[in-house]
Amino acid sequence: MIAIIGGGPGGLTLARVLHVHGIDAAVFERDAGPEARPQGGMLDLHTDTGQAALRTAGLERQFLAVARREGQDMRLLDHTGTLLLQEDTPDDAPLARPEIDRADLRDLLLASLPVGTVRWGSVFSHAAPRAGGYVVHFADGSVVECDLLVGADGANSQVRSLVTDAKPVYGGSTTLDSAIHDADRTQPELAAMVGRGNYWVFGPDRHLAAQRNGDGTIRLGISLQGAPDLDSDLLDGWHPQIRRLWAARDEPIVVRPVYVLPVGLTWPRRPGVTLLGDAAHLMPPVGEGANLAMLDAADLGRAIAAHPGDLDAAVADYEPAMLSRAAETAKRSAAVAELLTGPDAAHKVLRFFQPQVVD
Ligand SMILES: Cc1cc2nc3c(=O)[nH]c(=O)nc-3n(C[C@H](O)[C@H](O)[C@H](O)COP(=O)(O)OP(=O)(O)OC[C@H]3O[C@@H](n4cnc5c(N)ncnc54)[C@H](O)[C@@H]3O)c2cc1C
Repeated sequence: MIAIIGGGPGGLTLARVLHVHGIDAAVFERDAGPEARPQGGMLDLHTDTGQAALRTAGLERQFLAVARREGQDMRLLDHTGTLLLQEDTPDDAPLARPEIDRADLRDLLLASLPVGTVRWGSVFSHAAPRAGGYVVHFADGSVVECDLLVGADGANSQVRSLVTDAKPVYGGSTTLDSAIHDADRTQPELAAMVGRGNYWVFGPDRHLAAQRNGDGTIRLGISLQGAPDLDSDLLDGWHPQIRRLWAARDEPIVVRPVYVLPVGLTWPRRPGVTLLGDAAHLMPPVGEGANLAMLDAADLGRAIAAHPGDLDAAVADYEPAMLSRAAETAKRSAAVAELLTGPDAAHKVLRFFQPQVVD
């Protein structure tokens, strides 16, 4: 049996790709059920990573039915309210980075799996090697034996310690997340200002991102260096309309210090266990994590299918390529995170999107 710990985008994609190849797997997820917690905002799935994984999983049609082309719209401003760039997605634009609600992606993956594949309310506790696999222990005292243990249990992975001592470290920045629900009705002026997709405002030492979700919620985030003082005016001196946008939030602020794993992390091969997604390579949240988790899952699923009866050969095939891709993406993500900081972030980002413009 293949035991996948974690039913995020990575774990569910792996279960689905294995199912497509007629290989049984069980996903052990700590949430009590599919509705146990809100799934958060949108993900943009890229053609060559997240979307490629969905093609491998045979779910491209289902994805296109819920993907939000207009979610690719972008407005880029500086904190004085000057609009620097506006890109509206034409109706016939290619779906290079369409947005999908996290909840829609999860529903789509869950619906593609045989009933019972996901064992809800299963909190991984620890695991011990046995001949040809692992014995896995859960917090409620239950135990399963598996031939391959896959840690798809995210940033604070417990499975990770079976292959490496590496732990995520604070990367130096913090994001503050909140939201405005039913924005077209409750805040029509602000909703029109944000538009159909992404609305980014760059100040001297922080930026605000607003993002329209498919259900009419506007997700809000402020990213800054260090630890924020929540009692201070976070947008002091910013344009009044942008301050109004943050002030209109109707959800408590969630403070997220950004943690990362070392760039280029590797580990010696361990029989019977491997990792994928954030468990393997946690990087700054600049739009790659879910894409990469799903691509890892597709590659691991394909490798398992290509080596019938030899899971160690499959993992030996999967891990080096996954780790080297992760190292490259982590370097790129760190560079993008750097681009988003500093007093001239607005113009660095503008040049990133419009390299032909010389100022
Ligand atoms: C604010 C923010 C915005 C982001 N935006 C984007 C974006 O636009 N695009 C993008 O590609 N990425 C984005 N990311 C990154 C993305 O969310 C992650 O990289 C992605 O979810 C990783 O997928 P995963 O399957 O590896 O892990 P996760 O999605 O973290 O899933 C892990 C699962 O394991 C379960 N689990 C954890 N511990 C246990 C346990 N002990 N036992 C059983 N189950 C357990 C959890 O409940 C969870 O369901 C963003 C991240 C943040 C924080």
